[in-house]
Amino acid sequence: LGSPERCFTAAQRRAIQLRDGTCIIPGCKIPAAMTEIHHVIPHSEGGPTHTDNGVCLCWWHHRYLAASGWAIRMVRGAVQIMAPPWLETGARKWRNVTKSRTRLTDAVERKNG
Ligand SMILES: [Zn+2]
Repeated sequence: LGSPERCFTAAQRRAIQLRDGTCIIPGCKIPAAMTEIHHVIPHSEGGPTHTDNGVCLCWWHHRYLAASGWAIRMVRGAVQIMAPPWLETGARKWRNVTKSRTRLTDAVERKNG
């Protein structure tokens, strides 16, 4: 579900929100419908406006992502995050955010051709 535009389309937002459910930062319960879509690889660095490069972040976590130290990456369409050094003592490691990856993204993709 890709697009050359910088802004995610309504269909892309819907697919990402269905996948993530809430802001992806652990412990944050802001519903996906109230979040903003964050480019994991920044658009300015060539990151595509695609569901595999977008995650739900609430306003606060989106604004302060860099300062807070959370790291986000996508692995084959699944979101992984790494806690900031001030929060996680010892070795930092990547964790899956979505417990069970659904096929909703693919369903939406098929529906929209
Ligand atoms: Zn949040």
